[in-house]
Order: sequence, then C-alpha cells, then structure tokens
Amino acid sequence: MKYISLLGATGSIGTQTLDIIQEHPNEFHLVAMSVGRNITLARKIIVENKPEIVSVVNKEDADSLRNEFPNIKFTYGAEGLVEIATYPKASILLNAVIGSVGLYPTLEAIRNGKTICIANKETLVTAGHLVMNEAKKYGVPLLPVDSEHSAIFQALQGEKEKNIEKLIITASGGSFRDKSREELQNVTVEQALNHPNWSMGAKITIDSASMMNKGLEVIEAHWLFDIPYEKIDVLLHKESIIHSMVEFHDSSVIAQLGTPDMRVPIQYALTYPDRLPLKTANRLNLAEIGQLHFSKMDIERFRCLHFAFEAGKIGGTLPTVLNAANETAVQAFLDGKITFLQIEDFIEKSLSSHKPVMNPNLSLIQEVDLETRAYVNSLLQ
Ligand code: NDP
Ligand code: MG
Repeated sequence: MKYISLLGATGSIGTQTLDIIQEHPNEFHLVAMSVGRNITLARKIIVENKPEIVSVVNKEDADSLRNEFPNIKFTYGAEGLVEIATYPKASILLNAVIGSVGLYPTLEAIRNGKTICIANKETLVTAGHLVMNEAKKYGVPLLPVDSEHSAIFQALQGEKEKNIEKLIITASGGSFRDKSREELQNVTVEQALNHPNWSMGAKITIDSASMMNKGLEVIEAHWLFDIPYEKIDVLLHKESIIHSMVEFHDSSVIAQLGTPDMRVPIQYALTYPDRLPLKTANRLNLAEIGQLHFSKMDIERFRCLHFAFEAGKIGGTLPTVLNAANETAVQAFLDGKITFLQIEDFIEKSLSSHKPVMNPNLSLIQEVDLETRAYVNSLLQ
C-alpha cells in the first residue's frame, strides 16, 4: 500500500489523481490533501477518501470543516501546504497545486524524503536548480506527471543520458493553433478556454493557447532531464497522440503514444517503475485515427515560447520573472482586465526591466517572484 499526500486535490490533475486512487484501493490510499477555496468539492472528497489531514487556503474554512469532521485534522494557509507535503505517514507527494506557491512545500517534502510526483511545473520553472539539487542531496526520485515529460521519461528507461541527441516535445497548438496574430487581437476568455484536445484547469489552458505552456515545459524538461536548451526541440502535432520523443545519437527516435488522458501519466508516476491496468482509459486505435500530423513550430508567431527559451538559457532569476509575470498576466486576462496579446506584452516588459542574478537562493527567488507580481499589477493600473 502506498500512502499518498496530494496538493491541489480539487483541481483538474487532483481529481484525476483521486480517480486513480479510487480505481486501485489496494494499492493507494489518500492520507493527506490540500485544496484551495472549493470547499463544496473538498467536502465530497473528504467523505469519499477519508484523509487524516486536510489543508485549505482560508482559516474560516478550516474552522467550519473542523466542526463538520471532528476526526480529521484541518490546517490552512502556506504552513498548511507544508504540513500536507511533509505528512509523516505519506511516502509520496503528488504536487498538483497551481503556481509557484508549490515551491516551498516541494522543497520541504524532499527534505523529508518523500518521493515527488510533480505536475506543478511552475515550481520547476521558478527554481529548478534548487529543487533538483535538493532531490539529489536527499536521494529522492522526482517523477514527472506532465504528459510530455512522462513520455520522455518512459522513452529514457534503460537508456543512458550520454546517448541522447535531443528531446522532441510535441505541442498541440492549443485553442488558437490556426489563428494569425491579427486574429488574436480580439479573442475572448471563453475562446481561449476551449482547448481542442485536453480538458484542464483554466490557467494551463490559457498557457496552452499562448504557447507559454510549451515554454514552461521546455524549462521543466531542461531541469528534469539535465539537458541543455540547444538539445530541446518543439514540434507541432495537433492530434496530441505522440506525447513526446527522444532522439538518440544513432538516429533512433523513441516516442510514447496514447489517447490524451492525463490519468495515464499520473498513474505511471504513482506506480513507477511498475504499471497497473487502467480500465477506464480509452485505448489507442491508430487504424481509426489513420493519420498523424506534424509541422515546424513558428517561434515568431508564439512569442511566449521564444521568451521561455531566452529566459531559460540566461537562467538565474529570469525564469522566476517569466513565471511570475505569466501567472499574474494570465489571471488578469481571466479576470477580463487585459487582452490576450497583452499577456505577452506584460511578460516581455517584466523580463526586459529585470536584471538577472545568477544562482539565486530561495529567499531571492521569493523576493523576485513578489516584485514581479507587483510590477505586473502596477502595469494594470
Ligand atoms: P487547477 O486550477 O484545475 O487546480 C489547481 C489546484 O490548486 C486546485 O486544487 C486549487 O484549489 C489549488 N490552488 C489554487 N491556488 C491555490 C493556492 N494559492 N493555495 C493552495 N491551493 C491552491 O489546475 P490544474 O490541475 O490544471 O493544474 C495543476 C498543475 O498541474 C499546474 O502546475 C499545471 O501546469 C499542471 N498540469 C496540469 C495538466 C492538466 O491536464 N490540468 C497537465 C499537465 C500539467 P481550489 O480549486 O479548491 O481553489
Ligand atoms: Mg503538458
């Protein structure tokens, strides 16, 4: 039995993780979880999974839930996230919270020897060097949940890093794949939230439309697989069937395929190095699909991808700025305060007004993260 602690249980990845846990009651048990503000869903999850400890964002919610469920421990806020991430009975932390709020709990979980299944890519983007160093120091595995990274991880099983020629990350193109920059001027939040292949949380769906999601994934891959940016390619593949590939020196390419279903990479991270059946998954029927399409990524059209490569290559505090500016700008777009293309403008302004500091420690990263959010908010005024 694997005891699991889950950050972001009420989210898209969180609820799909709970599906996996419930499908395999003899393999997994949820002992600790965090939610944000969705207390209605939290209640349902508590009743179904009976965790021992739950963290919420607000103290008032913790107080009222404590009255309802007197046998469960309730905690809240930033400290609550750490308490969930380090809960002694859990051996695995699945981090499915959104944003750089997941960074500190991840570092603390590593220091407590937890196996980390990481969906929360913003954590790796904002401080990949700290997370990877700490994981190495404490000898804990960091297993990817993001489908592209799971594909690469699967393709690398039994392979030596030194034989890698390049990583090929596939991109569906998101909601606006076929729109020109002109046509992007007036797109609405509703249009941006309509992803052709994947059903995901709001923030990552907008990131997919702006191609920032792919940019964040490039940085994520750089850290997870210790690969220089020059050896990471992005390829448009609109069907989202090939989840990513690795090309080796001898010209062989290994790809991982499947229908677009996040439960597959979530479960692989939880069962690694083993596999379990997933009876509710749609099986891939290539005869029915018939054709797969690929095309070159236009880095001029998708400026966020360009920003991410540049920020990643320069490094230091720049990826922190990239991530914090993006988180703040995407929220402003979702709140109807800015247009879709202003997301790019705000990120560009944030990056060009920042003087990067190399090899930042945690407190500098947290400082830069807050400063960048304040800067973007000042642009909103
Ligand atoms: P969602 O927005 O669906 O869920 C986010 C979760 O985090 C919710 O449980 C939410 O709580 C909680 N949360 C939000 N803000 C806070 C906060 N300040 N403090 C504590 N908890 C908070 O996101 P997704 O599931 O889509 O994404 C989660 C992560 O996984 C992201 O990093 C994303 O990039 C990554 N990812 C997602 C994929 C997907 O298919 N969705 C695919 C690959 C990666 P509540 O709702 O209760 O307020
Ligand atoms: Mg992905």
